[in-house]
Amino acid sequence: MVVVFASDVHLTPERPDISERFFSFLEKQAGQVDALYLLGDLFEAWVGDDDDDEFAELVKQKLRVLSDSGVAVYLMHGNRDFLIGKQFAAASGCQLIDDPARLELYGETVLLSHGDALCTDDFEYQEFRKEVRDPQWQKRFLAKSLAERRAFARQARDASAHYQQQQSAETGDVNQQAVETLMTGQQVSLLLHGHTHRPAVHDFKLQNGVAAQRIVLGAWYEQGSMVRWDKNGIQLLQLN
Ligand code: MN
Repeated sequence: MVVVFASDVHLTPERPDISERFFSFLEKQAGQVDALYLLGDLFEAWVGDDDDDEFAELVKQKLRVLSDSGVAVYLMHGNRDFLIGKQFAAASGCQLIDDPARLELYGETVLLSHGDALCTDDFEYQEFRKEVRDPQWQKRFLAKSLAERRAFARQARDASAHYQQQQSAETGDVNQQAVETLMTGQQVSLLLHGHTHRPAVHDFKLQNGVAAQRIVLGAWYEQGSMVRWDKNGIQLLQLN
């Protein structure tokens, strides 16, 4: 059993080089394994499954080819693409999974998360998250025209880019207490997430003294980032 993980690909027609790298990843690295987990922010923005954008259609097809070839593809929402719904999942052959989700492999359990819910020092973002993750808000939003939704997404993206520039290094990262509370509650000692764009392997101890590890996937800007888990263990890798 071999499983690969990626997150924060931030696919957009504006960055064809990243799309090409991701499509090649789907063929080469993900094409050879049993399962692929996409842990959020696959897209730079997602305004609804009814989006008739050509680029979205292309990504759907690429994922479909992979899932049709027998690779199980799992998709978790990120803060950019939390509106991906059942229609996209069915068309692309992906299975939507909750955040957090548990995965057991080789006698170990890893907890999977996008990671944005753990950035609890960023109060403003957590307020925004609460609002847009509300089913009522989503229902109202999806009832708007595609043009209105696209305009909102553009605005949210610009605001977020501006806001991130003003953030200190600390508030943009996960909160260690939130990490430990989640891991202790879920009784796991291994957490894998993305979102922060700070690829790393962090070793620490939980309050009960148990040795724990937090693996952070990188974003796909200058290069790709993935985690591979096979019989030899779990590895964070860069794709050049
Ligand atoms: Mn994110």
